[in-house]
Amino acid sequence: MISKRIGRLELSPTLRIDAKAKAMQAEGINVINFSAGQPDFPTPNGIKDAGKKAIDDNFTGYTANDGILELKQAICLRLREDCGVEYHPQEIIVSSGAKHSLYNVMVALINRDEEVIIPAPYWVSYPQQVLMVKGTPRIVPTREENGFCLTAEELKANISFNTKAIILNNPSNPTGAAYNPDQLREVCEQAVAEGLYIIADEIYSKIIYDDYQFRAVASLSQRIKEKTITINGVSKAYSMTGWRIGYAAGPREIIAAMAIVQSHTTSNANSIAQKAATEALSGQQAEINRMVAEFQVRRNYMLSKLRRIPGINCHKPQGAFYLFPNISAYYNTEYGGMKVRNSYGLAYYLLREAAVAIVPGSAFGVDDNIRLSYATSMEKIEEGTDRIIEAMARLKKSPRFKRVALQNFMSDPRENVPVDTQVTVEERDVLVQEAESALPFDRYFEWNANINGIIIQLRTNVPHLYDFWVENFYPAQLESDLEPHGVIYAVDGVPGRTPHGYFNTEMRTGILFNTTYYGQVRSWALALAALASERLLDVHGVRAACVDYNGRGLALIGPKGMKRGSTFTRLLNDEDARFLTNDWVFVRYRGNEAIADAPERKFYLKTIVAKTNERYARIFDRSKCENVVSTRADWTNVDGLTEECPLDLGEPYCYWGSTDSRAMVDPAWIHGPRRYVKRSRLAVVALLHYEPHAPAIEKLSVEDALEWVAEGKYRLPDGPGLSPFKTQPFFNPYLLAESVDAEDLQRRNFHQLFRVAQPYKVNVAAIPPDAIKLRVRELMG
Ligand code: PMP
Repeated sequence: MISKRIGRLELSPTLRIDAKAKAMQAEGINVINFSAGQPDFPTPNGIKDAGKKAIDDNFTGYTANDGILELKQAICLRLREDCGVEYHPQEIIVSSGAKHSLYNVMVALINRDEEVIIPAPYWVSYPQQVLMVKGTPRIVPTREENGFCLTAEELKANISFNTKAIILNNPSNPTGAAYNPDQLREVCEQAVAEGLYIIADEIYSKIIYDDYQFRAVASLSQRIKEKTITINGVSKAYSMTGWRIGYAAGPREIIAAMAIVQSHTTSNANSIAQKAATEALSGQQAEINRMVAEFQVRRNYMLSKLRRIPGINCHKPQGAFYLFPNISAYYNTEYGGMKVRNSYGLAYYLLREAAVAIVPGSAFGVDDNIRLSYATSMEKIEEGTDRIIEAMARLKKSPRFKRVALQNFMSDPRENVPVDTQVTVEERDVLVQEAESALPFDRYFEWNANINGIIIQLRTNVPHLYDFWVENFYPAQLESDLEPHGVIYAVDGVPGRTPHGYFNTEMRTGILFNTTYYGQVRSWALALAALASERLLDVHGVRAACVDYNGRGLALIGPKGMKRGSTFTRLLNDEDARFLTNDWVFVRYRGNEAIADAPERKFYLKTIVAKTNERYARIFDRSKCENVVSTRADWTNVDGLTEECPLDLGEPYCYWGSTDSRAMVDPAWIHGPRRYVKRSRLAVVALLHYEPHAPAIEKLSVEDALEWVAEGKYRLPDGPGLSPFKTQPFFNPYLLAESVDAEDLQRRNFHQLFRVAQPYKVNVAAIPPDAIKLRVRELMG
């Protein structure tokens, strides 16, 4: 499957609006498009001629990797004449568009986990590019009242020892905001004083209005220039977006590093386009003024129209060709069944109701605004703004809007952090000390959980983890006097640490640094409790979903990917089924009985079940959740993107926008309290597997079942074929103990289990999902 690196990236949220706009156009609807990111003028003739000439002159081979000298000289000329900065051609690299230059800078400059400060609203590709090189985007919101310009104080407050660079986009896409020279100097001086590099994206430097004086970052001082990589190109100023020429100017060693990156990826930029760009930059510059004059007329018109709409505020931009009005006064309104809850909802509404395409602010990291591009004809601007005015007037406060109790929490990373299970006792002591010192007294949460008689203590500085923990587990009595059997540190914001866990079964302490994901904390708690209860209480911790039929229990065991969760949910639709646990049971063997207890108060459920089972959505609305997607920008479930999302329809949450979202659910809410039990006696064990040519159900002997779980060999459906075999002994990835003793203990315990509860292999490849309820039910006799 696709790499993790790509899995972290977001599909452009604007894509779906765009796709809808195109679909409407195909149906013959006259959609007015205010989402364009390029000038609507043709490339000027002189430039086109230079391109044609390059072809006729057979200038069609490879060129110097970092660009032809004459183009680099033309770039130096523009930088000197327009910005007053001197560059040598060796301090210039030509790439396939400014976007490509930016990416080369990231690769050349940013190490894993180094932070790059990105003021929001930001151009969509900045954070994504930082993620692609495994850096960490540090999004810093700017204030509308400051004209969306970052202040030196805001910068300072967000710098950590790990910060490597800041991206300044002046003038800005999407806001059109432009820094005045004093503001710019203050911010840049602050950045340089802190040792940061400045990536100055000045692609809109020529598209400026009124009496705004553009000042290039590199021109501010020699000290600043030495830390600045200027990004620019011909796309916007010369209407040449399709030619794909951009450039970077900066310190020689950085430019040389970018050249190496480029030499192994795209080689040189297109030879013909380089010739055309040379003409653009060294030829006469009058076309730009004509284009900018036209843009200014349109800006003034569009701005005055938007400002007439009640409740809408719009900052007057001094550059680029976008307006970025604040439309949040229209949230929680509706018309004709369409609800507006966020910028995405408004974009959707305007498209449906007014046939106008705009870009939701959430795409740029700010949900209160929308972006309108005026790089389109005056006629369309008149018509489109009229339509917007009418559509906005129809929106009425939504009487049905009711705030739900969902306490969402976006945790990042959203998955388990890597774990080191081989730490020595000495290392443990140092780690514990470090964790302790990162727990300040005014932000320290501690609570003892009683997990089937075993006491596990959580020490954390993350309120979210504490809340989930307290809700999830029964409290241990006499808290203050108890010596816990295990301790888990989950400490966030530890300087110098990447998200990582340290664990060793002998030491009964787990240490998690820089994570806020409850899933892993819970797994560790149950694993620690299982280890301790096996040794001390002779109680067997089993990862299984369990259902009870009249006092007789059925356990479903299987590795990830075997549909254990969905099978469990299906079984519960049977009126006679009562549920015990969705994930873990603790089993005591007494004579011929396997007495199974649920160790948790709550179920920790993947919220994606709401996609096929609407009733769960209403339960999640009232539950604590983590990673539930509430804005389009947070979508991570790439597979789910093809379908309609509740956010498009004005719902505040989407329970399947992320495959990592979970809810802490009271089991009694699912089918009422009568359908929930705390204890059952296991009679049957269903071992789930996937094997297309094997029988649907096989009864197993005790020995065969034991061999099957001990080996833990399984494979998954994988597109058209099957994945190679994997092994997960006892199907329990949280049994971090890999010692011979621990395996022996598991073997003995499972032997007892299969002696009293009849094992079956249940082949999910041979049973259609609809039939699974009946087939499994048959096993119970
Ligand atoms: N930076 C910003 C702020 C932009 O808006 C754009 C184009 N949308 C680019 C860079 C990329 O320009 P190019 O076409 O040269 O890749």
